[in-house]
Amino acid sequence: MSDTIFTKIINREIPADIVYEDEMCLAFKDVNPQAPVHLLIIPKQPIATINDIKASDREVVGHLFLTASNIAKDMGFDEEGYRVVMNCNEAAGQTVFHIHLHLLAGKPLGWPPY
Ligand code: C5P
Repeated sequence: MSDTIFTKIINREIPADIVYEDEMCLAFKDVNPQAPVHLLIIPKQPIATINDIKASDREVVGHLFLTASNIAKDMGFDEEGYRVVMNCNEAAGQTVFHIHLHLLAGKPLGWPPY
């Protein structure tokens, strides 16, 4: 898999507003926010889409959700609510082929999302 823009962010080859980092993942502000809070949480290990997740990726994928939950709690959105979503392939709106959780918060979020 060739490097995506997210690998370049992980490697600090292009800038991003990083809010959290650990050995497995990185969280940064989306450059085109769709809510007052819009973060992306990405694994450092590149996985192109949800379809490419393997059993051996369980820990890292679970870690993305745990990180989203921790960040939402730290920001005080656990009571009010927030949305975590991951798009898979073009029809669902995926544009960067390195899996990422969108964490959206800070306004009422409509459902369904179309
Ligand atoms: O789910 P999808 O693949 O469409 O999400 C990609 C997201 O990455 C978009 O919300 C886009 O605004 C964001 N992005 C970013 N920084 C970049 C390139 C894309 O935050 N340099």
